[in-house]
Amino acid sequence: RPGTVLRSDRTMVRFDDVTRRFGDTTAVDRLDLDIREGEFFALLGPSGCGKTTLLRMLAGFERPDAGRILLAGEDIAAVPPWRRPVNMMFQSYALFPHLTVAGNIAFGLKQDRLPKAEIAARIAEMLRLVRLEGLGGRKPHQLSGGQRQRVALARALAKHPKVLLLDEPLAALDKKLREETQFELMALQERLATTFVVVTHDQEEAMTMADRIGVMNHGRLAQVGTPSEIYEQPRSRWVAGFIGDVNFIEGTVAAADAGGVTITDPGGRRFRAAGPTTAGIGDRVTLAVRPEKLVVATGTAASATAEPAPDNTVTGKVGDIAYLGDMSLYKVRLDDGTLLKASVTNARRRTEQGIDWDDMVRLSFPPDAAVVLTE
Ligand code: ATP
Repeated sequence: RPGTVLRSDRTMVRFDDVTRRFGDTTAVDRLDLDIREGEFFALLGPSGCGKTTLLRMLAGFERPDAGRILLAGEDIAAVPPWRRPVNMMFQSYALFPHLTVAGNIAFGLKQDRLPKAEIAARIAEMLRLVRLEGLGGRKPHQLSGGQRQRVALARALAKHPKVLLLDEPLAALDKKLREETQFELMALQERLATTFVVVTHDQEEAMTMADRIGVMNHGRLAQVGTPSEIYEQPRSRWVAGFIGDVNFIEGTVAAADAGGVTITDPGGRRFRAAGPTTAGIGDRVTLAVRPEKLVVATGTAASATAEPAPDNTVTGKVGDIAYLGDMSLYKVRLDDGTLLKASVTNARRRTEQGIDWDDMVRLSFPPDAAVVLTE
């Protein structure tokens, strides 16, 4: 995140060749991952990809079949869940309904037999931290959904864990509250500098909150990187398609040099992609281009003249325009049937007025807007 404290380079959590099977299902498959101290790390992936299993192994609720998990450099295989410096934040409906807010926060501390004065001090600290001062005497049903969520958070943080695990922490909240809470969680994590590991299937949530994201698929990590690395430099078609909207252009490499590649698609169109790639002449590759990188222009000049279109330019007919408030999404059908999506911010669109359904438009993109994918 821009403008925030420097993260440590020290590894807090290390998954070393970890596998976990359930019968015939390999939930986690020979996975390696380092999570740094003080990092806000998100595990993102579709349902069933193994992210919860990974989290539960770290918490100690589940054992790996193979591999090791290290916490601050130590193998934690033999450490039972309650002795690990790791706490899991559960959904707010897992609060004890008969206990007060303070009672909920104190629960784990009492189990650990902390002195009474210490417990009182922690309760006060936690209520302040989650901005619920004065509400320690209430029962969960006397709180709003957002407040209950903050109690759940306070309860999980009360033992001062080295790592806080959050499994779909905001899933129960409505959209607006979810967005507010995302920013609260980020601010809190910033202040505490505790390592947070959040599991989510919501890519926007992961992109918003996390310093780095591990994108999981079929028990493996498809890519690990900052939100912008994953969005701007996806490593595979699968990652590019899972995170955000994308256009794929398939073709064969016709020329390759240090500056990038030129590909020809089945319709004979040429596209240039800048940037490093391992692809060589003759290879079949896919270019990934985000809809906002396509420039939409009116006019049929390119198709009306006999001249070949310049590289990275196609013409097509506007099949659909979706108005999305901040932007509009154009679906443009090329003459070979290919559908490309181009998004234009509406602030910009005002200057491009006049584009309507069934209009012929020209789409183009700069070479550095395309990512060359070989898998
Ligand atoms: P979701 O987002 O739906 O929670 P997930 O990515 O967290 O999914 P996991 O819950 O880790 O995925 O499950 C990974 C795979 O392991 C799934 O195929 C699941 O059915 C299987 N699995 C998980 N726990 C068990 C279990 N206790 N017994 C049998 N199979 C399990």
